[in-house]
Amino acid sequence: MTDAYTKFVRSAPGALIAKQVGLPRPSTLPRRGDRPEPVLGPVVVLGESDGADQVARELLAWGTDVRRRFEELRTVGSVIAVLDEVSTPADLGAILLPLSGAMRSLAPGARVVTISRPAAGQDPARDAARGGVEGFLRSLAHEMRRGGTANGILVGDGVGLDAPGVTGALRFLLSARSAFVTGQFLTVSTADGSATEDLAQPLAGRTALVTGAARGIGAAIARTLAADGARLVVLDVPGAGTELSRLANELRAIPVQLDVTSAGAGERLVEVLRDRGLVLDIAVLNAGITRDKLFANMTPERWDPVLAVNISSQIALTQALLEAGDVLGAQPRVVSLASTSGIAGNRGQTNYAASKAGVMAFVDALAARLEALGGTANAVAPGFIETEMTARMPALTREVARRLNSLQQGGLPVDVAEAIAFLASSEAGGLRGETLRVCGQNMVGK
Ligand code: NAD
Repeated sequence: MTDAYTKFVRSAPGALIAKQVGLPRPSTLPRRGDRPEPVLGPVVVLGESDGADQVARELLAWGTDVRRRFEELRTVGSVIAVLDEVSTPADLGAILLPLSGAMRSLAPGARVVTISRPAAGQDPARDAARGGVEGFLRSLAHEMRRGGTANGILVGDGVGLDAPGVTGALRFLLSARSAFVTGQFLTVSTADGSATEDLAQPLAGRTALVTGAARGIGAAIARTLAADGARLVVLDVPGAGTELSRLANELRAIPVQLDVTSAGAGERLVEVLRDRGLVLDIAVLNAGITRDKLFANMTPERWDPVLAVNISSQIALTQALLEAGDVLGAQPRVVSLASTSGIAGNRGQTNYAASKAGVMAFVDALAARLEALGGTANAVAPGFIETEMTARMPALTREVARRLNSLQQGGLPVDVAEAIAFLASSEAGGLRGETLRVCGQNMVGK
């Protein structure tokens, strides 16, 4: 999909005009493969707690250039502020204010990550400090420049900062894989999960299903999971059979032509898996549609299919997979596609927002059910992503939607795919019922 405005303001004459008139000039976001090192160094770890020492040691073990002060650094790649022991709001400044003087030294595509604990409703002063981290981080994300991002990790009380989920979230948020994630928090609520042994192929040996895989975000998810080593089962409607076969050939994946809303779709999928002797470790429930209309003009023809594809099919498919008993591996990971519309609501999308808010509540409940199997369920809520779905928006609405985020551009399908690959990884076992926004800090919702 083309973003003609961004192309124009990146050209020499366009850049000049945009500068003079004060128009947004979106930066090029570094993505996987654009950087020689997974973590942009030097990394400055702020904070004096044992947790801060632990994080610094972990980064050293990754071979990263780690510092504990900004001192004479002319360029800073990443900053990690460890605030796990703050007990009153007065504690925040001592850890965070040194970053103020270094903001102008942040490299293009720099990463800032806070590590703190969620407010627990017990100690008012401590909770005020913990809540304060969230307000700080979300505001800082709005102030990041040149494609930089700022995100936070909330680590549940009793979970150590060396838990796999913390390490995995840190690795994801510091890397170019989180290019379009900013102003967000990931909550690591348990110490479950395990370290990734093969960082180049973190999903090696795993089998993953992706629904709605023929094009757009689904195809990007399939390609990303395959690049991470997973074996793929790609599913889409029979009408998308040609595109699906092409993708399946490219990835040596198993194609399944199936309408997820058809009667007995879950049982049919179980049959296919059994016939092929496949056991799923990962299920990505991505198939989705829009049928936008103001609610005053809403009809069952527009309402029903959106609810059926976007949420009811997810409930039916997961139920069939769980009931079958022999087609899910140990510690299964389910990742669903929500949307920022489901968080903030969107004019003309009552049906779509109902389905996507439903997805978020669904993964929360499903996570509790999967816990007994050592599994997890989480969701990703994309903002504006450049796909055929958004290409169908009216031109002006599309242009406004693209710019209304801190990174001033639409995300790419691969940005959503990267977040899903992280949530599907063994390290993400401590994240449960989370919805991670991949939206460039879309100015909507909370
Ligand atoms: P898309 O329209 O480009 O692709 C959707 C895919 O789902 C298609 O291949 C389609 O054939 C398949 N599909 C639709 N109905 C199906 C059914 N009944 N059974 C099986 N497959 C079916 O859409 P996209 O932009 O790639 O969106 C993918 C997901 O991401 C959707 O859930 C969407 O709601 C969500 N999302 C997208 C955006 C965005 O900006 N593009 C933003 C937020 C959320």
